Amino acid sequence: MAHDSALKWAEEDRGLQTGFTTERTSDTVIVRGACPRCGGETEWTFRTGDMGSLSAPAGQDARPQTATVICSCGSAHPDRPADSDEDGCGAFWKVRFER
Ligand SMILES: [Zn+2]
Ligand SMILES: [Zn+2]
Repeated sequence: MAHDSALKWAEEDRGLQTGFTTERTSDTVIVRGACPRCGGETEWTFRTGDMGSLSAPAGQDARPQTATVICSCGSAHPDRPADSDEDGCGAFWKVRFER
C-alpha cells in the first residue's frame, strides 16, 4: 500500500490490527508497520513501564497485551489541528504483543 500523504487528517479508530513487527529491548517495545489508514510507515516506541508488566511472574502464563499505536508516518496530512502533537494522519489502532 502506497502512502497517501494527501489524505486529510482525521481521528479514526482502526481497531485491532495485525501484521506489525514488535521488537523488544530491555525497557521498550518498538512497533513497526504501515498505518492501516494512510499506509505510511509508522514506528512507535513504548516504554514497558507505560504498559504495565509485559512479562508474567515466573510460573504464570502471560496473557497477550494490547497497546494503542497512533499513526506517526511523519507526513503533514491536511487538516491536522495546529495544536496536535501527532505527526501522522490521525488514525490509531491496537496491536497485540505475544509473549
Ligand atoms: Zn496514517
Ligand atoms: Zn500518513
